[in-house]
Parts: sequence; structure tokens; C-alpha cells
Amino acid sequence: MKVVRDIVKGAVSLLVGMGVTIKAFVSPTVTVQYPRQTLSISPKFRGHTKLVADEKNPDKTRCIVCGMCERNCPSHSIKKVEGEKKEGEKTKTVTEYILNFTTCSQCGICVETCPVDALAFSSDYNPAGYRREDFYYDLVKEFEKRRKSE
Ligand code: SF4
Ligand code: SF4
Repeated sequence: MKVVRDIVKGAVSLLVGMGVTIKAFVSPTVTVQYPRQTLSISPKFRGHTKLVADEKNPDKTRCIVCGMCERNCPSHSIKKVEGEKKEGEKTKTVTEYILNFTTCSQCGICVETCPVDALAFSSDYNPAGYRREDFYYDLVKEFEKRRKSE
């Protein structure tokens, strides 16, 4: 009798296991083949900050080099904001904007306090590097690279 009971128990267990496998097999896939495939990022995701293009002149950023973001950053992650006044232009053009992303908490103060909405969060979710310096970003260079790839 014990042998029959064990066989029935084993068969039931096998069917339950197969049921779980079949259910998973026909369920929609929830994983992606990263890095060949990527998920779309939520619009609220906060990557490193980036400079926003001027609508009238998309090759130029909106930044007027006022320094407000640099002064307000609580962790002093904005290391340098340099610019120059070009002939015929009313405001300065940013030439260098160094962000130390290793200390940035993505708090958003710089984005919120910029008087001309020149900053936004990027959707760069997988920055990688071997050295601390790899996470020092020049947002002007990043802007130019982004423009070229658009
Ligand atoms: S998000 Fe916050 S911590 Fe990061 S640079 Fe802006 S103000 Fe500084
Ligand atoms: S607050 Fe805005 S306009 Fe002023 S330096 Fe920062 S990014 Fe540029």
C-alpha cells in the first residue's frame, strides 16, 4: 500500500511542478536580453543632469552661465560653469560645465532653481567607468555629443 501511496504522491507532485512550468512558459516574458534589448525608461527617472537645448537655436544650450546651480548645489557637485559672451549675443554661452556625478544625489535643486530651465535629468541609467574621474562629466561636451547623434 505504501508503494502505491508513494507513486500517487510522486505523480501529483510531478503534475503540480509541470503546471508551474507550463504556466510560466505561456506567461508574457518579463525579462529582456540586456544589453541587446533595453526597457523604456520612466520619464521621471533621474540620471545625471544634462543641458537643455535652446528652442530657437537647438545647437546652443539655454544656459546663461549665471552660476545659480553651482551656488545652490548642496553637495558642491557642480565644479565649474564657464562661459563667454559672443559678439552680437545678449547672454553668455556656456563653454564648460563640470558635474561630479560621484557626489550628486540627484536632489534636483539645480534643475528647479535654474532661472531659464536650462537643466534637466537625463535618462542615462547605466553609466560605467573604472576610475572616479570617469564620472566627472562636462555637460557641454555631453550636449554636443547628444546633438550630433540626433
Ligand atoms: S541634482 Fe542636486 S546634488 Fe546633483 S548637481 Fe544638482 S543640486 Fe547638486
Ligand atoms: S542655473 Fe541654469 S543658467 Fe545658471 S549656470 Fe546653472 S544651468 Fe546655467
